[in-house]
Amino acid sequence: MCRSAAVSDPPLILGAGPAGSMAAITLARAGASPILIDRDAKVGDALCGGFLSWRSAERLRGIGLNLPDIGAHPVNRLALYAGAAEAQANLPETGYGLSRRGLDTAMRALAVASGAELQIDRIRSLSPGAAEGERQDWRSDSIFLAAGKHDVRGYSRPRQSDDPALGLRIRIPAQAGLGELLAGKIELHLFPGGYAGIVCQDDGSANICLALRKSMLAGAGGDPRMLLDRLADEHPHFGRRMAFAVPDLPIDSIGAVPYGWIAQRTEPGLFRLGDQAAVIPSLAGEGMSIALTSGAMAAKFWLEGGSSAAEHYQRALASAARRPVGVAKLIWETAESNRLGPPLVKLAGLAPWLTNLAMRASRIGA
Ligand SMILES: Cc1cc2nc3c(=O)[nH]c(=O)nc-3n(C[C@H](O)[C@H](O)[C@H](O)COP(=O)(O)OP(=O)(O)OC[C@H]3O[C@@H](n4cnc5c(N)ncnc54)[C@H](O)[C@@H]3O)c2cc1C
Repeated sequence: MCRSAAVSDPPLILGAGPAGSMAAITLARAGASPILIDRDAKVGDALCGGFLSWRSAERLRGIGLNLPDIGAHPVNRLALYAGAAEAQANLPETGYGLSRRGLDTAMRALAVASGAELQIDRIRSLSPGAAEGERQDWRSDSIFLAAGKHDVRGYSRPRQSDDPALGLRIRIPAQAGLGELLAGKIELHLFPGGYAGIVCQDDGSANICLALRKSMLAGAGGDPRMLLDRLADEHPHFGRRMAFAVPDLPIDSIGAVPYGWIAQRTEPGLFRLGDQAAVIPSLAGEGMSIALTSGAMAAKFWLEGGSSAAEHYQRALASAARRPVGVAKLIWETAESNRLGPPLVKLAGLAPWLTNLAMRASRIGA
């Protein structure tokens, strides 16, 4: 393809996930004419637990997107499992189960309807004021980096763990018995070395998403299917859900998720959003809320101060993310520990108020 150098004054948003689309909607509605760039012309189904917290739902309602209207499955309870221990607690407010395809499609459409220009290009690398795409080079003094789980060359997030977390996801199609088992709840199954989150989605399928240490996969010979079978054998509650899986369902994976990382600084004109700004351990179910909050917040700072507001924005977001990310990290490290998972679930059963407190403390404000 012929490369052309395009000079673009409007803000450039790299990535049309929840963070990028939220920024695009907010900017476009204020008349800023943003350009929203995504590598995929057809919205995919990003690897994600698919649980939207009440805080995410509130943010989306604020831009006119009512989750039940797009088929989201209401969730009112958290069910926890570790070994033989089991506990349930009511969510502080209603959350939802929704496929990422459903959410991202609705948000992209809203961004375009609000006046954002959608462009399809895969950004290969980034430098101050410029993004090199596969189709063309993009320039702007205001770049919103919202590429989520995928780092862009030049701006990789640090990976410090010897045994990094990785994500796996399998979707079990809707069937009799499965929907009844999961109705109205988000389940977290804790294992030594990780967890699985299970929630029903808009099409009635069960989204089973795991975050596990890489060593667990290595222990299963690097074979995700063998690892899932092993977990199903060793953990009866999880096994009962996996028994609905039909053979050869695809398993998606993502490596080295930098849980707990928060961008403390940025450079002039670069607004880091969503997972490119803060990565909350996913068992909190708050990543999309942070993405939405960061998109709206960055747009607001830009509208008030232009490209020079980037540093102020980044510090404000880091400060808002500190408590929820810290709380979620503490819970994740306790939950995945060999000895502490089952006592944690027992404690949650004895003191639901404590579970409620933890759920509230791991939400982002602002
Ligand atoms: C195992 C796991 C389970 C999770 N479960 C939950 C959950 O249940 N609830 C929750 O709230 N959060 C959950 N999360 C976190 C959540 O998925 C993320 O926090 C959220 O997706 C971040 O949104 P984002 O917009 O920053 O990035 P993404 O959702 O990753 O979107 C990024 C967008 O950028 C595009 N893109 C990427 N690279 C490029 C490029 N080079 N050029 C152009 N476009 C590009 C992609 O196509 C995509 O559209 C989970 C995360 C993991 C790892």
